[in-house]
Amino acid sequence: MRPKLVVGNWKMNGSRAANAQLLQGILAGLTEAGAASAVCVPAPYLFQCEQLLAGSSMAWGAQDVATEPCGAFTGEVCSSMLQDFGCRYVIVGHSERRAYHGESNALVASKAKAALDAGLTPIVCVGEALEQREAGATQDVVGAQLDAVLEAVGADAVPKLVLAYEPVWAIGTGKTATPAMAQEVHAFLREKLRNCNAEAAESVQILYGGSMKPENAGDLMAQPDIDGGLIGGAALKSSDFLGIIRAA
Ligand code: PGA
Repeated sequence: MRPKLVVGNWKMNGSRAANAQLLQGILAGLTEAGAASAVCVPAPYLFQCEQLLAGSSMAWGAQDVATEPCGAFTGEVCSSMLQDFGCRYVIVGHSERRAYHGESNALVASKAKAALDAGLTPIVCVGEALEQREAGATQDVVGAQLDAVLEAVGADAVPKLVLAYEPVWAIGTGKTATPAMAQEVHAFLREKLRNCNAEAAESVQILYGGSMKPENAGDLMAQPDIDGGLIGGAALKSSDFLGIIRAA
């Protein structure tokens, strides 16, 4: 049995005051028996997370990382900086970065490698757009996204990865993949992991993301290969986020 993991992806939301309220609300409702949880926040708020969450059961992380170590890369944030603020996780290859910042499979793979090299756990996002699903290309798309990462990081790194399957058409739209639709893709991704590192594949957490809410989280996470959630909108309200952690 893989332990469940629920990660909040705050995207570009928050303020010091709102974050404090949200995090305190979540911490007040966390129980020791619940699923593991984390929040991935905008870089300026990592210090605040470290201050509020250190010593709690909730981990924190970032939403992107540079491929390069420190140096002349204006505007970038490197993996050692994330580590400096106590991050455990960093999201790489979120579909919003792929779409709005032109991140290619190769670039996402280098980011995953940069994270691993600094001892961070990359949460590698994959997912197909609606046209791709309708054209029957879901496996080709997510397969190529995962292959690029596996090639860059190597078989030995498989146990250090977290994957997130996020169908682009389900993100922020209120449309969720059915548990069966999501399970089919999760099983396909795990099979690819097995082909790379058979033993480690069984321990890799594959999260589902895309309009996960307290009401649908239980059914999704009851699927054999769905090991948690990557939560956008519902991570911004402590009662919703706690509801999902409880459903896990
Ligand atoms: P959503 O976002 O839960 O708001 O659909 C998920 C994500 O983009 O990680």
